[in-house]
Amino acid sequence: MNYRRWLITVFLAWGATVPGPAQITRTTNRPEKESRARPRRYQEGPLTARDFRGKVPRDADGKANPLLAFTKTDFRYDWKSTFTRRNRKHYLVATEIDLYSVMLPQHSWNCTPRDRQLLDHEQGHFDITEAQIRKAILQLKAPSSRRLFRSSGNSRTRAVQRFEENLTRFLEPFVTASRKHHQHYDKTTRHGRIRSAQEHERKKQKLELQRLAQQIRSRAPSSNRSLTSPE
Ligand SMILES: [Zn+2]
Repeated sequence: MNYRRWLITVFLAWGATVPGPAQITRTTNRPEKESRARPRRYQEGPLTARDFRGKVPRDADGKANPLLAFTKTDFRYDWKSTFTRRNRKHYLVATEIDLYSVMLPQHSWNCTPRDRQLLDHEQGHFDITEAQIRKAILQLKAPSSRRLFRSSGNSRTRAVQRFEENLTRFLEPFVTASRKHHQHYDKTTRHGRIRSAQEHERKKQKLELQRLAQQIRSRAPSSNRSLTSPE
């Protein structure tokens, strides 16, 4: 059974001048707006001006929005599983859990698409979300996370529900950490305006992403990027 659902939709949104609040929204269906501009995976490469498809919102007075750009990123997961049934109980075993970060083009906008410095600042927000996803991937590989690959219930639906609840709970600390990092980034760089701080933060982010990528590679000798059940 292959699940490709948008079960957890953790919106992590930060603008160029004012960071937005992070919120957790659970949806069982794919949000309608996303079908028009599909979520963009981090692995597709650096953000470009064309990735910002959202309309620049206006404030209550009808004036142009004072923000320069807005990037919405999100934590996502897909999984594959098998089911068995014993004594009226349904058992789920996840054979694969794929965690990844996305940027939502339909919800992201940019007033000055030619501003490379601003684009790099926005990329920094995507990198922050990706770093937390990589940390989650590493923790999911730890023996203590094996329990996340199994669940059970008196129906398949209930087993799936439990599996999803556990995975969502597992991801929550990474969402919280991500939120803190986004706020810190905007505070220290003043939304990218302090050039020296911006460069310093970007350098740190890139190093951390490299370090995490190496750690993930060293724990997965095969070329398969997704996680396989340890049992
Ligand atoms: Zn920012």
